[in-house]
Amino acid sequence: MSNMINSGGMRGQNGRNASNYRTNKPISLVFEKSSPGRHLFVLPDCDVTPDDSLPDNMKRKTKLNFPELSETELSRHYNSLAKQVYGVNSGFYPLGSCTMKYNPAINEKIASLWGFKNVHPLQPAYTVQGCLEALSLCSKYLCAITGMDDMCLQPAAGAHGELTGLLIIKAYHESRGDQQRTKVIVPDSAHGTNPASASMAGYDLISIPSDENGRLDLDTLRNAVGDDTAAFMLTNPDTLGRFNPDILHITQIVHEAGGLVYYDGANLNAIMGITRPGDMGFDVIHLNLHKTFSTPHGGGGPGSGPVGCKKHLTPFLPIPHVVDATDDSPFSFSYDFPQSIGKVKSFYGNFMVCVRALTYMITLGSDGIKEVSETAVLNANYLMRRLGEKYDVFQPDGCMHEFIISMENMKKDYGVSAMDIAKTMIDYGIHPPTMYFPLIVPEALMFEPTETESKETLDEVVEIMFEIYDNAIANPESMHNAPVSTYVRRLDEVTAARSPVLKYEFGDGSDNGSGKEND
Ligand SMILES: *Cc1c(COP(=O)(O)O)cnc(C)c1O
Repeated sequence: MSNMINSGGMRGQNGRNASNYRTNKPISLVFEKSSPGRHLFVLPDCDVTPDDSLPDNMKRKTKLNFPELSETELSRHYNSLAKQVYGVNSGFYPLGSCTMKYNPAINEKIASLWGFKNVHPLQPAYTVQGCLEALSLCSKYLCAITGMDDMCLQPAAGAHGELTGLLIIKAYHESRGDQQRTKVIVPDSAHGTNPASASMAGYDLISIPSDENGRLDLDTLRNAVGDDTAAFMLTNPDTLGRFNPDILHITQIVHEAGGLVYYDGANLNAIMGITRPGDMGFDVIHLNLHKTFSTPHGGGGPGSGPVGCKKHLTPFLPIPHVVDATDDSPFSFSYDFPQSIGKVKSFYGNFMVCVRALTYMITLGSDGIKEVSETAVLNANYLMRRLGEKYDVFQPDGCMHEFIISMENMKKDYGVSAMDIAKTMIDYGIHPPTMYFPLIVPEALMFEPTETESKETLDEVVEIMFEIYDNAIANPESMHNAPVSTYVRRLDEVTAARSPVLKYEFGDGSDNGSGKEND
């Protein structure tokens, strides 16, 4: 297997190099590299008398366990950790549904402008007029792209946007005395956050099955809706990467039953400038700025999940709203929305993510935004067709921004699973695709190449995927050990999920700063 690594092209492009690794040597923490007396600073002698007025019971009894390293060691430590991180800047990252596109550096540059970076959220509105204008513009552009009338930028992520949207729907029904609407309908192909958000918002969940092609059946929907329906949640294109041509019928069926229709717009990469959820009949939508609108994500950085709505739901949006400047008055915040569901995030949301999204939209313009979607769909279809020469594509007749291949036959015939293929891709310097999602396709691998990849990269990926395919048939046993080029090998995912070790135990019994002696 190791001869396949670093044998040219994309292999090893992620900066990994087998010779950097000593097999099975665990990654040491900075604490484990510590050696008493080492420093990376020189401080002048203290020339003030320390304040000793703290009561004894509040004083630390043992020394704080800080790591002691030289600057060289510290620099090498973090540099070597950084080298093991795989990101969009390392190589191909086809993580379906997550839209791992390249994020232009200009977004970072604009977000780090002094006037954006150094404002305080409690500054009076008249001192932060440019920031309010940026928020207002960001909302307006997102409304134009989605066909919504209003947009709240507060939610911090997609799932948070879903919860916010459902609370808005709840407030709307309650304001009309429609208390009996206690159910939210979700197709079984939905992203896992949809049912979770519905139950967090206090709704009962109805999951409706897809037909044998993974499509939503209109009669099934008709039978599910009624006067207890609060909302129907849908993503279109669906999680199988296909646009639903029945969408106008779907929204009509739900509206006729008195329910509202929620659009999971976490991934808008396929439709921008081409069609709009607002025109499809959706009432509420959330977007993931950290996916479609280009903010680095994965690894827990800040996200943003704006919620957009049609006019009839505006009174329920979170407060405050940004009010545009007029000839007589500057930009301001308004809290004067008595039916609002309240605040869902401290201050106004993750402001810098909105600045990045605004920069992205302004630099691309409306033609560029449309081209993003056209290229994303073109790239996905190209990769799907090429991989389809060897792999089993689920629904190979065409896709939107993503598609699914199934390893069901491969597993049956050779014992090589979707997991084995995904893990082997790591050894070739490619990030694995989304695995085992959506749940309705067995042994699914979901590819989303995004618009930021060139044809040359896609061709190289195809070549690698073919090599992996041939190896899976010729040498199936070898696939179970992958990845072999990484610091951490194949993880025991069941144990990792069931008994995660989330806390480092200091073996020497020292006080690591938890302050437990003083509790
Ligand atoms: C990513 C995603 C979400 C959840 O977004 P988070 O920001 O991770 O909370 C919801 N729905 C779909 C379809 C997604 O792809």
